[in-house]
Amino acid sequence: NRAIVLKQRPQGEIQEGDLAMEARPVRAPGEGEVVAQVLWLSLDPYMRPRMNDAKGYMDPIGIDEVIVGESVARVVESRSDKLKVGDLVTCYSGWQEYVTFPADAPMVYKIHQKNNVPLQTYLGVAGMPGRTGYCGLMYVGKPKAGDTVVVSAASGPVGTVVGQTAKQEGCRVVGVAGGPEKCRFVTDELGFDACVDYKAGNLEDDLKAACPDGIDIYFENVGGAVTKAVAPLLNPGARVPICGYVSAYNAKDMSEVETPFQILKALDPVPEHRFFLVTEWQDRHQEITQILADRVASGELKYRETIAEGLDSAIDAFKGMLKGRNFGKQLVHIAD
Ligand code: NDP
Repeated sequence: NRAIVLKQRPQGEIQEGDLAMEARPVRAPGEGEVVAQVLWLSLDPYMRPRMNDAKGYMDPIGIDEVIVGESVARVVESRSDKLKVGDLVTCYSGWQEYVTFPADAPMVYKIHQKNNVPLQTYLGVAGMPGRTGYCGLMYVGKPKAGDTVVVSAASGPVGTVVGQTAKQEGCRVVGVAGGPEKCRFVTDELGFDACVDYKAGNLEDDLKAACPDGIDIYFENVGGAVTKAVAPLLNPGARVPICGYVSAYNAKDMSEVETPFQILKALDPVPEHRFFLVTEWQDRHQEITQILADRVASGELKYRETIAEGLDSAIDAFKGMLKGRNFGKQLVHIAD
């Protein structure tokens, strides 16, 4: 078994020597446990803050520990009657090829694969990021028909689901993404009403032009300059679900970065806003996964993905994702 472990805490962007591939023996399963082979590994922005020493909403990864992460895995050995050899699950395996865990561990879910929904989609728009976008929009954003909804990181798995769900709710949807190719995808393929390229150098004016009636919901994924451009356009009664702020994740000291909370609290009136975690709706995991998988199966939920091949490519792919080199959900394909 090979695993990618944290050797030292990155100072800013991940550098050579911060993470390393190591051989780690596969632990023999005890009673009630299984061994699973990782087929697809999900790379997600939250992994970067967890490499820091500061305690956020989750504990930091320890030095010499395997980097955290969710995967699609196949059971290859079982000492449990809950999972049998050949079963496919999503589980928090970390960045490694094999993992041993109790079959009834929290966050282990058997995949009920729909006909034409590819397995890795259960890590993307029909997985954790998809549920994040869906729940954050519906239960924190509370969309009403006719609202103008702006979502940043629009071409990624969270943004993709937010925008397409908001369209179904009868909203006018404006994405924010980096570069003309991503913006074209967001409007032409995902069906958003407009998409602003925040890298084009005219963010404030372009956003204003795209939102002639102001903004009723801003779904926050990135923070920083985008939040500042959004702030003056928020209508009275606006809601801001704060999902993440990826522009700060590579900061040397995240506590020194101006947060979306600070930017929003300085407004008059202060818009309704709160940080939420997808796990708030953990009891509805299966139900919401089903809703999203059905939409993928029927073709109404569209998405894009970027696939890195082999565990060796994970570090580079992860570094790239934090800079927007990914186009859609970033995955690592490890085995068939
Ligand atoms: P994405 O696949 O969208 O990847 C991150 C994207 O962020 C990049 O592709 C890039 O897109 C954009 N980005 C990077 N740096 C900047 C910057 N400086 N300014 C603006 N955009 C930037 O990620 P996800 O869809 O998986 O996640 C989106 C957000 O959701 C993240 O903040 C993540 O932490 C959060 N999240 C929160 C959860 C929760 O429970 N609260 C759960 C899951 C995700 P581009 O090229 O367009 O710039």
